[in-house]
Amino acid sequence: MARLALITGGTRGIGAAIAQRLDADGLRVAVTYHGNEVAAQDFAAHHSIPVYKWDVIDFDACRNGIERVEADFAQPIDVLINNAGITRDAMLHKMSVDQWREVVDDDLGACFNMCRNLIHGMRERGWGRIVNISSINALKGQLGQTNYAAAKAGVIGFTKSLALESARKGITVNAIAPGYIATDMVQAMDPQVLAGIVAQIPVGRLGAPEEVAHAVSFLVDERAAFVTGATLSLNGGQYLS
Ligand code: NDP
Repeated sequence: MARLALITGGTRGIGAAIAQRLDADGLRVAVTYHGNEVAAQDFAAHHSIPVYKWDVIDFDACRNGIERVEADFAQPIDVLINNAGITRDAMLHKMSVDQWREVVDDDLGACFNMCRNLIHGMRERGWGRIVNISSINALKGQLGQTNYAAAKAGVIGFTKSLALESARKGITVNAIAPGYIATDMVQAMDPQVLAGIVAQIPVGRLGAPEEVAHAVSFLVDERAAFVTGATLSLNGGQYLS
């Protein structure tokens, strides 16, 4: 039987593109979301991919949600894509404690909540694929994003450490650090700031969600068993400029 993949934050943006790609690759796929009902209903209306709702900040909700998905599909989750994430941008001297905590809990804490609940089964079965979505801003920093850059840099350290712990168990753990991708998260930026960012991207455009999905497809493939602990950059050359 095809392996089961779970994508957090899979009803829109990059997560939705990953879900469609892994579905097209022949995996069985489930997605989660948090609160955007319109996007979730729209996704469900256009795809035959089951949609689940829980908050990835909540450890017990992750455990219960994972149990529900595995019971519905009658098989374990072998492929986990930690994609859910948020931004709450502010310069540090204006950043609230809530803005700091929400981003660290959502962008980094969720990786712990999901992996901690799934890693035991993967170790027992001797196979697993985990891909954590980081960001170019983890690598180069960004004004107004001390919270987000710190959380996404934490994702890379988490990825490398879990890759070492899992290497002898048939489990690969990798990170992807996308540059600026055309999704709601980026479209919500001030248009002038966004135009300035696009001007710094050597290929001269934003990335497409499908381009990130292509990288995920590669990393979760059976044949990518020797790729672990890596951080794959996808940024149109922006890191070089
Ligand atoms: P979007 O804002 O378009 O979508 C985010 C998704 O995550 C939504 O499905 C959202 O659910 C879900 N989500 C957020 N918080 C939670 C939560 N607490 N519990 C469950 N689900 C949650 O984001 P993108 O597609 O742009 O980004 C996807 C990932 O890629 C993120 O981790 C982001 O940081 C990262 N990234 C994005 C870049 C970009 O340029 N877009 C660049 C680099 C990294 P709901 O719809 O219910 O709100």
